[in-house]
Amino acid sequence: MTNDIPSPDAWDSPQRILVVLAHPDDPEFFCGATLARWARAGHHITYLLLTCGDKGFNDSTPAEMTPDSLCAIRYEEQKAAAHVIGAESVHFMDIEDGYLVPDLNLRREIVREIRRHKPDILVTCDPQNLFAAYGINHPDHRACGQAVLDAVFPAAGSRVFFPELLSEGFEPHLPKEVWCSLTTQPNTILDITDMWHIKLEALLQHKTQIGEVEKFRERMKSRRTEDSAEENPRYEEKFRVVKYR
Ligand SMILES: [Zn+2]
Repeated sequence: MTNDIPSPDAWDSPQRILVVLAHPDDPEFFCGATLARWARAGHHITYLLLTCGDKGFNDSTPAEMTPDSLCAIRYEEQKAAAHVIGAESVHFMDIEDGYLVPDLNLRREIVREIRRHKPDILVTCDPQNLFAAYGINHPDHRACGQAVLDAVFPAAGSRVFFPELLSEGFEPHLPKEVWCSLTTQPNTILDITDMWHIKLEALLQHKTQIGEVEKFRERMKSRRTEDSAEENPRYEEKFRVVKYR
């Protein structure tokens, strides 16, 4: 790669970026370093999480925790992480964790949010990623990606889809670009080594999810690229990008 090739995110003006993912911590795990880079480049980032992650129980979850109390904690963890990343606002759709289905109802809800926020750049995840490095990719991730892509095309930019949204005042809007994170079929790879520490700092805000901090830091070292040297690690985030303009 030479420095003459413009970076795929070298937009010439501040972009409105909407990140639609399933759970608190998905933005940071899937593409937090890229989001941090975009925030520091002057772009405006909004998060929309479809659930509050109320079933995100694990070995270190206290016995007295309930889904409702975990939900409340994860709101705050996500807001803190978004603040570290530099995202400007965080919204929740409050669908029950684990039960996302990419049906017409969810598609309509996402079309409404795309038309409300009018993003230039929409970020979601690849719905075709079934086998993740850690096992089976969470069904909510796949459902979210599917619902978002189905909302983008052909519905969000067309007046004849969901006309009830028009009567609510939501005019058609098609994002310029859709960036799918957590993909096994990337066409865009960013070297985000210089933002990796910010991603880690943001992930550390999700205290209910990461377990012991030192073990977590150690685990995250496995994300370095294969050509990394021990003393000089390199990190990438990969996307499938679809461009409409
Ligand atoms: Zn998730």
